[in-house]
Amino acid sequence: MQKGHIGVTTENIFPIIKRFLYSDHEIFLRELVSNAVDASQKLKTLASVGEFKGELGELNVQVKLDKKTLTISDQGIGMTAEEIEKYINQIAFSGVNDFLDKYKNEANAIIGHFGLGFYSAFMVSKKVEIITQSYKDAPAMKWSCDGSPEFTLTETKKEGRGTDIILYLDDESKEFLEKSTIEGLLKKYCRFLPVPIIFGKKQEWKDGKQVNTEEDNVINDPNPLWTRKPAEVTDDDYKKFYRDLYPMSEEPLFWIHLNVDYPFKLTGILYFPKIKNRPDLQRNKIQLYCNQVFVTDSVEGIVPEFLTLLHGVIDSPDIPLNVSRSYLQSDGNVKKISGHITKKVADKLEELFKKDRAQYEEKWDSLKLFIEYGMLSEDKFYERAQNFALLKNTDGKFFTLEEYKSLIQGNQTDKDKILTYLYASDKTGQYTYIEAAKAKGYDVLLMDGQLDVHLIGLLEQKLEKSRFVRVDSDVIEKLIPQTETKEITLSEEEKTSLTETFKAAIPAIDKTEFLVTFEQLGENADPVTITQGEFMRRMQEMSAMQQGFNFYGELPDSYNLVLNMDHPLVKKVQENKEMNGQTVNQLVDLALLSNGLLKGEALNKFIKRSLENIQ
Ligand code: ADP
Repeated sequence: MQKGHIGVTTENIFPIIKRFLYSDHEIFLRELVSNAVDASQKLKTLASVGEFKGELGELNVQVKLDKKTLTISDQGIGMTAEEIEKYINQIAFSGVNDFLDKYKNEANAIIGHFGLGFYSAFMVSKKVEIITQSYKDAPAMKWSCDGSPEFTLTETKKEGRGTDIILYLDDESKEFLEKSTIEGLLKKYCRFLPVPIIFGKKQEWKDGKQVNTEEDNVINDPNPLWTRKPAEVTDDDYKKFYRDLYPMSEEPLFWIHLNVDYPFKLTGILYFPKIKNRPDLQRNKIQLYCNQVFVTDSVEGIVPEFLTLLHGVIDSPDIPLNVSRSYLQSDGNVKKISGHITKKVADKLEELFKKDRAQYEEKWDSLKLFIEYGMLSEDKFYERAQNFALLKNTDGKFFTLEEYKSLIQGNQTDKDKILTYLYASDKTGQYTYIEAAKAKGYDVLLMDGQLDVHLIGLLEQKLEKSRFVRVDSDVIEKLIPQTETKEITLSEEEKTSLTETFKAAIPAIDKTEFLVTFEQLGENADPVTITQGEFMRRMQEMSAMQQGFNFYGELPDSYNLVLNMDHPLVKKVQENKEMNGQTVNQLVDLALLSNGLLKGEALNKFIKRSLENIQ
């Protein structure tokens, strides 16, 4: 028997492992099962190149639970005494403490940095044994270590080739002796490993009890859909795989099968979900795999943020998985991968748009948030999206940016040659204004999405000599000014008096201010209109969505009450100051009503007054 010290330059690795790696203890199972899978794969490779000539037999990995132990067994290459010495006993640690201090919460980084996969077993065990028989003609060996740096290595007997790793779980890790815990972890980390993973027997119900059947309980699907050739996969296969991954979700809109060989390896399937109004709930559903080993389902830093709205699987041996997130973000491969995925997604959207525009338009409402998010956050994506991003007008018609520009150029260019895009953010609430704009021959866009305020800001920067104004931001004549406006012929006294009269009729509305202004809009235009300036309103909307913008958020909403001095009713008020307040009240309330501002007590009063006047 050989006794020795594990080659650690710091006094003792095990307390460090336990102390620092408290957060992600469960990944020991992933590490050990992956080692077992690797050992099986290596043997297959040796057989295929003729270096191993024996019977391969069934290459699978078994996970077994006992009262006190958890065992992971494989029929892979095994290890000779020399290999145990080399791969298990000699682990080179340098600068251990510095590194651990820096990454104390990132078990992945630590394990990866030191090639500590196997040693993660000590996060949960008081003793670990390896019983192994190499495929080479060498005696079977038993290695045992109780968590001190001392180990023992002895010859032993073992039936058949391969390795058993036996964990004697420590008292704080009893949960890993529960069948349900282990099954859950295997399903999480090992669901698509390339070698069958067997955990006990399949169960069935018999006489009201669950009993074992003869059949092995295989945890995983060794040939998941993304590893197959796209040409061999049907739409139904893709849909079924989606249902397997996200059992409660609606059918996806479409998908992209990624298959890259150069300059990095990447496979995967990305699905476009129907994005509803709670996109935050749909985040972080992309699962990241490394050679079919599950690594994480939080892919920030690896794919651009807007792509985290997609669902599906990415598998790449070229993403350095066992490193910290900050390192990932600066890694060249990761950047390339992220650029590549962005490009593929843009390709797919463009293809769908070109191939079947009607269908694309049908899906637009579900795609819109995703595409706008991409345009806002990735310049490269914006460039591409110009070809397939759509604008929808209040009549439900769709246009590309180019098409829309040609549509409105003739009619909606103002006197300063600025192209004016009119929009509404609420089709019902702004009905009166929309109709007025349409009656004037203008087209009105519907911009009622969650990101539309931001998109408008972006488009104003990107599209030259263009501005966006909401239909209720000014009186119709001034929305797209074609000529200089006429001066109003009112004395200061007349203005003051009219202002007082109308202000007195405006009901008090919380956090809302009104400014009375005067226009000559012709006899046929409404007598009183309420407008809200574009700039302030937009600032307030942005501040509601962003932190640190509070200045605008705390200001009251400010509206204009515009009097049309050409209208006979306003003229009447101006000329006859003795007239009872009813006309003024009615005029103000009607204007408030068409802006959706008349509510509560003020609305009640208006209704009563109107009823009294019906004869
Ligand atoms: P890594 O897998 O990153 O190399 P590990 O600490 O997990 O680091 O394993 C160290 C080495 O021990 C492996 O590279 C492999 O050579 C050997 N090894 C571990 N588990 C097994 C196993 N089940 N069968 C054969 N060899 C193994």
